[in-house]
Amino acid sequence: MKNLKIGKRPIWGAYQAPLPDELFSSWLCRTAYNQGTKVQSFCHILWPNETFWNRDIDRFFYPIVKDVVLRCCPLDEKSLHDTFLSAYSGSLRENVGYKNNNIWILPLGIYHRLRTKRGMLFCPNCLKQDPQPYFRRKWRLALSFCCPCCGVLLLDACPNCNRPVNFFRTEMGSRNAPPDYELSVCYYCRSELKNSKGSTVGPELIALQKMIYDILDRTLCPPITHISYPFQYLDILHHICRLLISRSPMLTGLQDSLLRRTMVRTNIFEENTVQVRAQVLKTATDMLNDWPYAFAKIMANHPRLKSAWLLKDLRERHFWFTSIIKENFYVNNRNRKLLPNLA
Ligand SMILES: [Zn+2]
Ligand SMILES: [Zn+2]
Repeated sequence: MKNLKIGKRPIWGAYQAPLPDELFSSWLCRTAYNQGTKVQSFCHILWPNETFWNRDIDRFFYPIVKDVVLRCCPLDEKSLHDTFLSAYSGSLRENVGYKNNNIWILPLGIYHRLRTKRGMLFCPNCLKQDPQPYFRRKWRLALSFCCPCCGVLLLDACPNCNRPVNFFRTEMGSRNAPPDYELSVCYYCRSELKNSKGSTVGPELIALQKMIYDILDRTLCPPITHISYPFQYLDILHHICRLLISRSPMLTGLQDSLLRRTMVRTNIFEENTVQVRAQVLKTATDMLNDWPYAFAKIMANHPRLKSAWLLKDLRERHFWFTSIIKENFYVNNRNRKLLPNLA
């Protein structure tokens, strides 16, 4: 390893700052390889008493990571902070911490150092265009389903061996030196993920993905009057997605009228396929458009669906949503004040 001396700057030779929207673990692997060392050895030198890879290291900006990294390279704290999922606090959710609920964050299914679930998405075209392939933070989010730049569906596993992405394990098997492979190589079968063919998606879904990203990045206001923060919209969007895939018999009529439910694998939104999530997100965003009129129109066909079911398991009780539901869908259709004006 070149130039590694903790305590003086600059330390890392061949240093490169994180690329746009790069995830911390991706940047850490590239940094280690650029040093000519395996990421496991690199982490062992930097954090001899920590075991990073048996947890979701991208979730939270640990103080020990901050202290060591900022001492060893010229990266500023804000840029480092922005490589973690916790930097989505205030946009994706009010607070994205380590212990908080996992909504919108794709589970990795960590088993020792292995990831068994498909929690790391990728766009093969983006990986192909990267001078040095790297993984994006947005590819860890359940609200991601396609790449708006390339117009293809994101992939969640190696198309050759069907195993999830474990890019930090590609070095397994090489004794001391880092692998000759790039991060875009499947750790298991060594196929090049960047050579995979992504399925193209239609303009409607591309526009939807772009809208969701713009809301998340705060370049677009959520489509609800009088709300300021993205999470005030995204919390309810997630709740609507959950209603659409819930196993509650009270909701099947609504679900059947809006979706092809046979594709839904589980009632946990984050554990459904990219295709199902895209379909559910499209339906849920349509229900929240022109709020509350589109929603009330749909509900007119389901007069028995009352507020208790629509609010069941609601985690964040945002007033813009709960007030309309309570006022118009309480008990049954006879209490629906909004509907006569809509019909
Ligand atoms: Zn792309
Ligand atoms: Zn593979």
